Amino acid sequence: MKLEDLEISIEKTDRRKTVSIFIERDGSVKVLAPVTASDEKVEAAIKSKEYQIFSKIAKWKELNQGKVNRDFVNGQSFLYLGRNYRLKLIENQDVPLKISGGFFHLDKKYLAKADKVFKDFYREKALTKIQERLKLIEEKFTNKPKAIKVLELQNRWASWTPKNGLNFHWKCIMAPVSVLDYIIIHEMVHLKHPNHSTEFWNELDKKMPDFREHENWLKRNGVKMSL
Ligand SMILES: [Zn+2]
Repeated sequence: MKLEDLEISIEKTDRRKTVSIFIERDGSVKVLAPVTASDEKVEAAIKSKEYQIFSKIAKWKELNQGKVNRDFVNGQSFLYLGRNYRLKLIENQDVPLKISGGFFHLDKKYLAKADKVFKDFYREKALTKIQERLKLIEEKFTNKPKAIKVLELQNRWASWTPKNGLNFHWKCIMAPVSVLDYIIIHEMVHLKHPNHSTEFWNELDKKMPDFREHENWLKRNGVKMSL
């Protein structure tokens, strides 16, 4: 594959002083460049980073080999708080979906809408759990979030808004609690340090000294956090 064959999206932002390359969660290439950089300069920077781009793509491919497509059949496993629960299809139960006795129980009537039923379940559980964890976490912070939302985010686990709101992807509830805490703490630090600056990482390190371990868990297992 050649550089010319790749679809590369370029975004100019005043938050960048140099050109940097990212591989999005869908495998596409994104380039962030300073607003002051001319198009020719950005093109040249991309060319000079050709090796880096292809090694990042190779790494992305390797991580995404673990991708699973889950079918809603008996025995299929689904993640919840870092554990796998197998699915049992049930005739008539009180709610469409629940965890019971170490299994996900899905009412057969909802099979056609299973995807939505699972997402609703994860979204509701994520909101409750994040609020519960946040109560403990925010004691260590002066900036507190004004609003918490659980959504389907593009290409990220969580994000913050300029109005001190925090958004989380519903998939976060598939990670172990320690990793969920990391995602929350990461965003809490952003309320004070918006960018991934040195100050940001120093502060994060202070609030959660073992954060790299959780970040690595996400890098290795994020691809499995899907329906
Ligand atoms: Zn961040």
